[in-house]
Amino acid sequence: MVQRALENCFEEARLSLDGGTGGKVATYIPELAKGNPRHLGACIMTADGGRFTAGDWRQVFTMQSISKTITLILALRLAGEDAVFSRIGVEPTGDAFNSIVRLETKTHFPLNPMINAGAIAAAGLCIEYARVPWCAESAHADFLDLARVLCGNEGIGMDERVYLSEKSAGMRNRSMAYMMQGEGVIKCDAEVAVDLYFKMCSTLASAGDLAHYALVLALNGRCPATGVSLADDRALRIVKTLMVTCGMYDGSGEFAIKAGIPGKSGVGGGIIACAENNLGIATFGPALNPKGNSTGGLVIIERLSQSLGLHMFGGNVFYKRKAHT
Ligand code: GLN
Repeated sequence: MVQRALENCFEEARLSLDGGTGGKVATYIPELAKGNPRHLGACIMTADGGRFTAGDWRQVFTMQSISKTITLILALRLAGEDAVFSRIGVEPTGDAFNSIVRLETKTHFPLNPMINAGAIAAAGLCIEYARVPWCAESAHADFLDLARVLCGNEGIGMDERVYLSEKSAGMRNRSMAYMMQGEGVIKCDAEVAVDLYFKMCSTLASAGDLAHYALVLALNGRCPATGVSLADDRALRIVKTLMVTCGMYDGSGEFAIKAGIPGKSGVGGGIIACAENNLGIATFGPALNPKGNSTGGLVIIERLSQSLGLHMFGGNVFYKRKAHT
């Protein structure tokens, strides 16, 4: 039943891409401009051990903003909740993921950890509170270890070319890091914090790897295979809450209505989503809508949520009505 639902949703997404509503690959990071807008893949992993796949689910790509969830889990582990939320807020912005404006007009700290400014601040905290304090290499090693554990893949690493490309093009992120260093939100060197952020965004994974991570999120940290705890239960509940309110940036409200489950996207084309204690989904489709969310991935997850009845409030009433207009 799950495989059939996945195939139907996948087909619908494929048709919508072919129909010209497919969106565009990200070009502001030059390496990402080489992405193939026709790629489309999906993987679902269920709590009872099932794995369901479609299309390019084995294709690796850079996590980009999906990494922000792992950065937050690491920051909570290293620095603790009080330190993290004394520097980073928990409110949605309604602005684009790379917007700088609120750092000047609202507060001097970033409004949440799912936007660039918040994740750069979280990277700064990972450095400040690293096991070897102030050591960015120590923080990056712990980040990669955590990503490997959560994805259930020891082979997870970084795409050096995307990292260098982001580093050369990331002036806006750099500007935010310097502003936050000036205000004491980032206490290490801004350049070092933003460099770690670029590395985190350049982490490679496939939809298969990320579906495992999404299932671990659904299980509040339990390893689906062994039942062992892989990450702190409370940290993951915080992450999922922020995924609901902020995970799709200024598209979070619409996604919450249509899919009704925690989701997080990245401009590499990935989206992860999870249904509590039930299943993890990851999709890959580098063609993005203007908000930076994968168009194919959105179709797959929203339709799957409807056909498998995943919406946290049930029903999908609004979604159905919209589909008929
Ligand atoms: N690395 C990207 C950036 O900094 C991440 C953004 C995203 O995935 N939305 O712009």
